[in-house]
Amino acid sequence: MTSEQNPFQIAQQQFDTAAELLGLADGVHAILRVPQRELTVNFPVKLDNGSVKIFTGYRVQHNLSRGPVKGGIRYHPSVDINEVRALAMWMTWKCALVNIPYGGAKGGVVVEPRQLSLSELERLTRRFATEISILLGPERDIPAPDVNTNAQIMAWIMDTISMHRGYTVPAVITGKPIHVGGSLGRIEATGRGVSLMVREMARRMGRSLSGLRVVIQGFGNVGSTAALLLHQQGCKIVGIADASGGYVASHGLDIPTLRSYTDHNPYHQLDGYRGPGVERISGAELLELECDVLIPAALEKQLHRHNAERVRARLIVEGANGPTTPEADAILNERGIMVVPDILANAGGVVVSYFEWVQGLQSFFWDECNINEKLERILVGAFEQVWELAHARRLPLRTAAYLLAVQRVADANAIRGLYP
Ligand code: NAD
Repeated sequence: MTSEQNPFQIAQQQFDTAAELLGLADGVHAILRVPQRELTVNFPVKLDNGSVKIFTGYRVQHNLSRGPVKGGIRYHPSVDINEVRALAMWMTWKCALVNIPYGGAKGGVVVEPRQLSLSELERLTRRFATEISILLGPERDIPAPDVNTNAQIMAWIMDTISMHRGYTVPAVITGKPIHVGGSLGRIEATGRGVSLMVREMARRMGRSLSGLRVVIQGFGNVGSTAALLLHQQGCKIVGIADASGGYVASHGLDIPTLRSYTDHNPYHQLDGYRGPGVERISGAELLELECDVLIPAALEKQLHRHNAERVRARLIVEGANGPTTPEADAILNERGIMVVPDILANAGGVVVSYFEWVQGLQSFFWDECNINEKLERILVGAFEQVWELAHARRLPLRTAAYLLAVQRVADANAIRGLYP
């Protein structure tokens, strides 16, 4: 297999490696290798100029053995069924690794949301939610934000499902605004988890966060929160890239200023940003900067066989889902560069989504301290399990994480038995 593999082939290859090491029986291997349900929808949206445009979207449920399924909704022109399948499978492993009672799902619409007005975006969202509503429900399938979707979009989806039902159903989706049943700490949760993983790894490398040189690809929800939290703890964020390119400063970028710049930019991009001592480089060059920690927090397949040899980070912490191809993984492993895998590193989001769902179901809301404390306990606990297994069996962290996660899903599957 080559890095021309699509994301689903990559996800299957990662799963096959774990299944083989675990000695999974052929039947279970075959069941877990493919998604359980897939829905493709082609749906019309009325544009502001009166014309009608057809959009395509997907919702894929990978595995339901451990509970209702959970996973975000992505709006991006490059969304396709194999990307959504991969993201759904990764969600199954992620939920199992942090031991929350969910299976994995993912959804997406093929769209460049920046080309839509706000009202077009709302109509697209409400129609897509209606098309996939046959799968959704607090006890069935609970979406959340992903690339180019946010709390407002989650609120429209919650409202659409609630209008269908005739009553308010807050627990049908997570990542909602606080006023309509969102959870404190959810927006920051994924980036907070990434920063906790950097802290745990730094400790084990005998380093403190102070002065650690960090490079981050992606400055959206995950990347910008991780950047801010690490900056606040004394790390030097020496490079950042978003879709507009790379921005570097060897003395460290001023993260609060960058965040306020993107907050005030209608497309939430760094495009046009100028700061003292800040130089521009390409997004590809950014991944090859010398640093202590590289955090890919944008899209899949960013580290591949053509650039893995040139990565000069000591540690990679995967904020994004699937940023490293199996070929790059092998090269990085060979070179002694450790990778904290996506299913662990970015699991903070789904953990606090789980808290949001629980709070919505019980209509009782927790304070932020409580949430962050519980999040840290779960993530650090999962990290320690992965670390110990990796050391005991001399495995890369990704393989150890997969062994733990896949075994849990296989066990749930076996205990339930094969219906009918
Ligand atoms: P986002 O839409 O908020 O931000 C995406 C960022 O990536 C933007 O800054 C964008 O400009 C940048 N980007 C896009 N293409 C790029 C490119 N070619 N080079 C460099 N930067 C590029 O999305 P997000 O929610 O931050 O998600 C980022 C990643 O994290 C995705 O892989 C997503 O699946 C994963 N993730 C997100 C969450 C969550 O809670 N939002 C949870 C777990 C995993």
